[in-house]
Amino acid sequence: METLLNRFIRYVKINTRSDESSTTVPSTANQVEFAKMLTQDLKDLGFSDVVYNSTNGFVTATLPGNVQGVAPIGFIAHYDTADFNSENIQPQVIENYNGKDIVLNARENIVMTTTMFPDLLDLKGHTLITTDGTTLLGADDKAGIVEIIEALLKLKATPSIKHGDIRMAFGPDEEIGRGANLFDAKAFNTAFAYTLDGATVGELEYETFNAAKAVIKLTGVSVHPGTAKNTMVNTAKLAMEFDALLPQHEVPEHTEGYEGFYLLSSMKTEIEHGEMSYIIRDHDKAKFLKRKAQLLKNAEYLNDKYGAKHFEVTLFDQYYNMKEVIEKDMRCVDIALKAMTNLKITPVVKAIRGGTDGSKISFMGIPTPNLFTGGANYHGKYEYASLNVMNQAVDVIVEICRLHAAS
Ligand SMILES: [Zn+2]
Repeated sequence: METLLNRFIRYVKINTRSDESSTTVPSTANQVEFAKMLTQDLKDLGFSDVVYNSTNGFVTATLPGNVQGVAPIGFIAHYDTADFNSENIQPQVIENYNGKDIVLNARENIVMTTTMFPDLLDLKGHTLITTDGTTLLGADDKAGIVEIIEALLKLKATPSIKHGDIRMAFGPDEEIGRGANLFDAKAFNTAFAYTLDGATVGELEYETFNAAKAVIKLTGVSVHPGTAKNTMVNTAKLAMEFDALLPQHEVPEHTEGYEGFYLLSSMKTEIEHGEMSYIIRDHDKAKFLKRKAQLLKNAEYLNDKYGAKHFEVTLFDQYYNMKEVIEKDMRCVDIALKAMTNLKITPVVKAIRGGTDGSKISFMGIPTPNLFTGGANYHGKYEYASLNVMNQAVDVIVEICRLHAAS
């Protein structure tokens, strides 16, 4: 039987980078190939109902329960990787890590130092998997995939552990924010689920941002500058005035914890035409709605001031704080906390300053918090994973399944 480490190495070596500019599902052909391979692997491993759904890109499978009357639960991970070099990934395995700086690439002098990444100091003695300094690793989220498979294989091989039906789902395009949009929650049909897409040991997350995007169309008046007096309206000036009406400290670079923000993510102006894009983030629903209203108010105020429709705001909601769903039924959180405590893992519960696939899936009716995987430094060349923590994640999944059946 292939070990967790070998499966992980085999999976991360396959380039599954997603592509925001693509309109297909999955967004890249590499991902389709990976999904088909994964489907075959799950069949070969003896799981039931193994399906690759070519409409939404999800690979799903079931480990049938060995006890009656337990509602199914699920585990979810994404198989795409972030927008960073993923060609020819060469994972390095460091056994019994000595707690010192790690030379990722001697030839190009790429070193991962404990000064830059002090979390490494906690991993002395662990087996680490790193990159060769030229690509990302893809532990985000192939660590999640192999942990789910490993845990379900463990349950399958250990009939003394009683569990209900356990469902797994592996999806595309999480990194470009689309993966879960087409997730078939009805077919998945579990009481609750978990994404395995966190990082450090003990992480358990069930609060995310509420998220929206705003596009502001600017219309000015262009005339020859020499004869522009009382006629020209320059959209660059309008844009600056619009932004100046927002609280200047409520931006990503000056906020943390539960503080929300406006991010002016792009701005392009000529004299007569311009466009600004903002993203709005807030954990608190009321504050989130107020932020959206603020952009509309800015436009209204400035349009009134100039007596012309210079500003047109279009708002798009992106995802919502899953806490709104989960706090109505905290079983999924309580069981995960109990599982970690039983395994002597200290739970680290914190609000995510972002979203997960679970933010969308929770609002489809399946409460879906997020668990740690043992990866770190995602989306870049310093990404690595601890095999020891990956094994702890496997244990947590097994214990959750056991506790759920026993409860
Ligand atoms: Zn991820």
